Amino acid sequence: MKKLAIDLDSTVWQILDIFVPLYNKKYKTNVKVGDIDRFHFFPQERFMKIYKKTTKHIKEFKPVRGFFGSYIEELSILYDITFLTHGNYTKKKVSKKLESMGVWGDFYQDIIITKEPKADFDFDYFIDDNPLMVADMKQYPEKTLILIPTTYNYYIADEYDNILRWMNWKQITEYLITGFI
Ligand SMILES: [Mg+2]
Repeated sequence: MKKLAIDLDSTVWQILDIFVPLYNKKYKTNVKVGDIDRFHFFPQERFMKIYKKTTKHIKEFKPVRGFFGSYIEELSILYDITFLTHGNYTKKKVSKKLESMGVWGDFYQDIIITKEPKADFDFDYFIDDNPLMVADMKQYPEKTLILIPTTYNYYIADEYDNILRWMNWKQITEYLITGFI
C-alpha cells in the first residue's frame, strides 16, 4: 500500500478561527483570518505563545471546510494513513478529537508529532497547507505534496510536477482513489 501523511492544523481542522481572536486580544490588534497572506505572518515569538494557548481549545476546532471523516475511511482502503503534525499535541488528544470528527482509530496507522521537516519522512503522499514544504519537496521528486488551498499559500507557482494544488477534500479523495483530477 502507498503511504499517505495527513497534516492536522488547517488541513483537517480549522485552528485560525480560535488562534486569531486570542492573538488580537493579547496584542490589541485587529487581524482577520483572511488577512494572513504568508505562513510567517505573525512574529514567531508571539505566534508560539498564542499557538500554545490555542491548542488547549482543541475540542472547539471545527473541521476544515469540506472535510469529512468518511473521506479518511475511503482513503484507508487504498492507503496506509498517518497523521503527521508539528503541533503541540498529545497523541491521545489528537485521537480523541479525530474520533469526534468521525475518524476512527482503525482508519489510520499512527499519529506522529514531530519537529523534523515532514518531507523527510517516508511517505508517498502528503496532504498539507504549509507552503514552506514546497522547497523541501524539490529533493523528493518521487513524493507528492497535495497543498490544501489557503490565503497564505496561493502564491506558490506550479513549478514542480510533484506539487498539486487547488483541490478541496472531495477532489483530493477522488484523485487519490482514481488517479485523476
Ligand atoms: Mg497545517
